[in-house]
Amino acid sequence: MSKLEKQGGRCVEGAIEPQTAVAELRPMSAVPIEISSRRPTAFPMPTTGPLIDSFGRIHTDMRISVTDRCNLRCVYCMPEEGVTWVPRSEILTFEEIEQIAKVAHNLGVDSLRLTGGEPLVRASITDLVVRLGRIGFSDLSMTTNGYGLARLAPALAAAGLMRVNISCDSLKAARFAEIRRRGTLETVLEAMDAAEHAGLTPLKINVVVMAGVNDDEIVDLAGFSRDTGRIVRFIEFMPLDAGKEWERSKVVPGEEILARISRVWPLESASERALDAAPADRYRFADGRGEIGVITSVTRAFCGSCNRLRLTADGSIRNCLFANGEHPVRDVLRSGGSDAELALLFRKAVWDKRAGHGINDPSFLRPARSMSMIGG
Ligand code: SAM
Ligand code: SF4
Repeated sequence: MSKLEKQGGRCVEGAIEPQTAVAELRPMSAVPIEISSRRPTAFPMPTTGPLIDSFGRIHTDMRISVTDRCNLRCVYCMPEEGVTWVPRSEILTFEEIEQIAKVAHNLGVDSLRLTGGEPLVRASITDLVVRLGRIGFSDLSMTTNGYGLARLAPALAAAGLMRVNISCDSLKAARFAEIRRRGTLETVLEAMDAAEHAGLTPLKINVVVMAGVNDDEIVDLAGFSRDTGRIVRFIEFMPLDAGKEWERSKVVPGEEILARISRVWPLESASERALDAAPADRYRFADGRGEIGVITSVTRAFCGSCNRLRLTADGSIRNCLFANGEHPVRDVLRSGGSDAELALLFRKAVWDKRAGHGINDPSFLRPARSMSMIGG
């Protein structure tokens, strides 16, 4: 395991040197987080209380992938052809997802995000939202590519969905088509309008920034945020693409993204909580016209404050996007396991979490599953 460095209070594994220093933009979340890469083995795994890992991080946020299927083929995520889908019999049913979500809620998970693959391609997705909405999560959201949202947004909102993040990597129609390989920019812009009309707000727009592909639009996308009030979140390209074409040179560091925007419109930190667990560092425009986010998973990891776990569509708990191991909750369920057994599996999954994802470690191994298989 790599040596964990502390940079601005976040755990960074062998951080890349930022190309442009914007130290004055350090968020308030940059408070030292005491975490060491060595496990504090003196403490046994607790069997009561919150979902805590062996480094003391409490887990309150879960991403549920409802399908590995998708109607797009984004270059940074899926291959263009030849995708093998998980057999339907292996995908969790709505009843199973509901049961697992209830167990997680009882363990202190209070924020749930539905993802995929593309969550809107799962048949009757609003029925699942109704089931999850009844559990009482304080936040229930979805990440979507927007296809079908113009039609489904009112029903999803009525079912209990609180907000959506919509992915859109370019404001140029031709480039959008090149990156996403299917679908149109127009459809996604309509989806954004529909989400707002349905009250699925604050609306966040996810942009994966890739050097030489769409990084020349960083300022335009920030302008889009200012003009529309939608919170654009710039995400560093991560080594989770099915095509395995990720290279470090294709990552545009968050520091550089901020520098480019702040040269046009000065920014100031808007991260409010000292130990903000949200992946995005938030920045507001100094003139008061809106806000953006930057997710620096590669160059400035936020593992030290991570509170997330994931449930794959085929029913495994993953304690990290980059984990190489999984905890198969579906097997426990389908062999008649009790809620107490499910809870124990959750505890083990979280307890096993590593200090950090290790992307920048020379011994880093890409996970066997790519982003759409895990659930981003
Ligand atoms: N299909 C939905 C969508 O695209 O919004 C939800 C699933 S997608 C896997 C979740 C998020 O992961 C999207 O915002 C997408 O842009 C992001 N993503 C996918 N592959 C990525 C990669 N290699 N690096 C960074 N972000 C990635
Ligand atoms: Fe599909 Fe989302 Fe992956 Fe694009 S990022 S291929 S929309 S799952």
